[in-house]
Amino acid sequence: MLCWPGGATPRNPPSLGGPIPPDPPWEGLTLTPVKASPQTQLRLLELADLDTKLARLDHRRRGLPQVEELARLEARESELKDDLVVTETELGDLAREQSRAERDVEQVRARIEKDQARLDAGQVIAARELDGLQSEIQNLHRRQGDLEEGVLELMERRETLESRQAELTGERESLGGEIADVTARRDAAFKEIDEQAAAASEQRGHVAAEVPADMLALYDQIRRTKGVGAAMLRAGRCEGCHLSLNAADLNLIRASAPDEVVRCEECRRILIRTPESGL
Ligand SMILES: [Zn+2]
Repeated sequence: MLCWPGGATPRNPPSLGGPIPPDPPWEGLTLTPVKASPQTQLRLLELADLDTKLARLDHRRRGLPQVEELARLEARESELKDDLVVTETELGDLAREQSRAERDVEQVRARIEKDQARLDAGQVIAARELDGLQSEIQNLHRRQGDLEEGVLELMERRETLESRQAELTGERESLGGEIADVTARRDAAFKEIDEQAAAASEQRGHVAAEVPADMLALYDQIRRTKGVGAAMLRAGRCEGCHLSLNAADLNLIRASAPDEVVRCEECRRILIRTPESGL
């Protein structure tokens, strides 16, 4: 059911002038306080096309597959970096542990040499002392064996970690190349999109300059919530929301002067009449 603002009728349209009021509380096809010639109204369709194009470009820019791919590669790169830090820290710890163990082996070996020299020099004669020295040398040899085994074990662990480090470094390098490649492809796509957007924006500026300020303000106000502010009425259907207008609304539009600016009852966009409107 149609309602007319302020009790206005198609033959007695609402008064004009003053700031553009917010969306009125009534429902139905709305006559706006703005009036514009059919030619000016057609300019809004050009604006709507350009805004649709700009929105599509923005959507394409944000949805580029390279953007998602880069995010994935960069996440992997960050994981690799963390793994490398852990591996290198562990390698540093192992190197220190190995040096300590090697120093221990060296001390035991020196002690054995010293004891052996005393034994060889015949300095120890007393049987009890001799037994003690020999058993100390035996113990030291066992200790040396254990320590050397420990060193070997540490060396094996280092080798394993070093090959892990080489593997991670290699992967990081090839990932770096891949990231550079995807970045270059993304930037090329950005450049193409940005050039198209700049051209569309420039064109939009020219079109907007030809639309009267009150009409443009109304269009932009609707565009902020709807993406585009105007839609063609084609064969009795609003091309913005794709809903067909009922017969009463169509009759009302038919009865409206060509410079009346009407809005769709459903989507609130400005409805533009053309020869294809089916009126
Ligand atoms: Zn609509």
